[in-house]
Amino acid sequence: MPRFETSLVWFRRDLRVYDHAALHHALKNSSAVFCVFVFDIEILQPLLDAGLSADRRVEFIHDSIVELELELRKLGGGLIVRHGAAADVIPALAQQLGATAVFSNHDYEPQARRRDDNVAKTLATAGCAWHSFKDQVIFERDEILTMAGQPFSVFTPYKNAWMKRLAAADGPLFLKPYPIEKYAANLAPRPASAADNIPSLTQLGFEKTNLRALKIPPGMSGAASLLEDFLPRIGHYETTRDFPAVKGPSYLSVHLRFGTVSIRTLARTAYQMLQQGTAAGGAAVWLSELVWRDFYFMILYHHPHVAQRAFKPDYDAILWESGEHAQILFQAWCDGRTGYPLVDAAMLQLKQSGYMHNRLRMVVASFLIKDLGIDWRWGEGYFAEQLNDFDLAANNGGWQWAASSGCDAQPYFRIFNPVTQSEKFDADGKFIRRYLPQLTGLGNKHIHAPWLAPAQDLQNAGIRLGENYPLPLVQHDEARKVTLQRYAVVRKVTEE
Ligand code: FAD
Repeated sequence: MPRFETSLVWFRRDLRVYDHAALHHALKNSSAVFCVFVFDIEILQPLLDAGLSADRRVEFIHDSIVELELELRKLGGGLIVRHGAAADVIPALAQQLGATAVFSNHDYEPQARRRDDNVAKTLATAGCAWHSFKDQVIFERDEILTMAGQPFSVFTPYKNAWMKRLAAADGPLFLKPYPIEKYAANLAPRPASAADNIPSLTQLGFEKTNLRALKIPPGMSGAASLLEDFLPRIGHYETTRDFPAVKGPSYLSVHLRFGTVSIRTLARTAYQMLQQGTAAGGAAVWLSELVWRDFYFMILYHHPHVAQRAFKPDYDAILWESGEHAQILFQAWCDGRTGYPLVDAAMLQLKQSGYMHNRLRMVVASFLIKDLGIDWRWGEGYFAEQLNDFDLAANNGGWQWAASSGCDAQPYFRIFNPVTQSEKFDADGKFIRRYLPQLTGLGNKHIHAPWLAPAQDLQNAGIRLGENYPLPLVQHDEARKVTLQRYAVVRKVTEE
């Protein structure tokens, strides 16, 4: 790479000042490095148009930007913050600063790839170079391929190849951090013309949310505190991760989403534990979740059609419920009014906090698709609006897995029973009672299916089904049969 006098680093989903590929390469190859973050109206305006002005993610990003700016300043640099269409702002700013190169990290989402291609073209016409780097995954694009040189579409062999690559002689390089501090002298302070320029949430058109009350800590410091809390528990991850009432997982997904933590730090920590035999079982399973993350980024990169259609085209022939009836079922699911307590508690967790436990994501997705017969894309869209950690690749992967239309999905005839899932993973109803206090008085035996409880038990618990807690929207056994018929179109194709 040639040396640049002045360059610009564009921060996107990598809001940190350590182990940052683009920042590292820019600092190493330039004499003066400016940094910028753009509150992109192409992303924010649709949220405002949809009436979603209280969005925890915007507040999370905003607070993380405040910290990022402070940390860059401590290193002798600064952060320019703009509010506009990134595709216009970046080339204009590069020109204004006299930058001859813009550095950023790869994004794998189809829309972001189109935006980056356009920015790179506009920059090129102005004689400004575009350099982009792998940063948010361990292995990307074509780095892990089958023996035949094709992208994998099944997880387990992909994971085996992923682990083998890491164990190769040059494997440790993939986990190595990109140093920043030793090159920090090349950071350029924020120009005077851009002083005090972080817009407030209100200036961006957004409102404060309950992010702080939820104790979801933003920024690098927030990620560091969650990691510190998780590491002593990682050894139990394998056994605790499936129980929503237990503090089993790391809760780091929102930080991985916005890059306030480095994937290399996390993968290295888990990999070292695995090699040293400390917390090995838990570390192995957790590392495997990080591999799922890489896997879905790779799938989205090679098969961008999954953002609109089934990974397996046959599954596009399925006829989903439609019309007003479907709308009513869908709304009840969104609002946590299905009459199935575990499903409802999970949907309320999502609405109230923007987080949902992984086991519950699988349960509610299966319920929407295979109990209510609703198109998986409706659920995918609702999650995209609500999840703090919403990530197109992982969300789409999760929904297509549940719909059986995905690359390595569960078979179409595997249908979660929402009552037995509840009995198994929330046996004492602790999670259910947290979100559905009206069911508190019902014993553990009946809390999973209140409509089966004796009338006297319901009366003693103060529950009036259909009044203060809904009757079930559908009967699971009947819904199951309808679903198997619905999926017959796929079976025919598969058997032909
Ligand atoms: P941990 O259990 O601590 O896992 C560590 C990290 O591994 C996570 O932060 C995440 O980055 C990654 N990870 C874990 N499980 C998966 C998985 N199945 N696929 C991909 N990456 C995974 N995850 C998202 O980050 N964004 C989404 O939008 C998203 N939507 C989902 C939708 C459905 C229907 C399903 C079934 C799963 C979805 N997941 C999504 C995956 C998973 O549920 C979350 O990553 C996890 O619950 C986040 O909590 P955590 O950080 O405590 O996870």
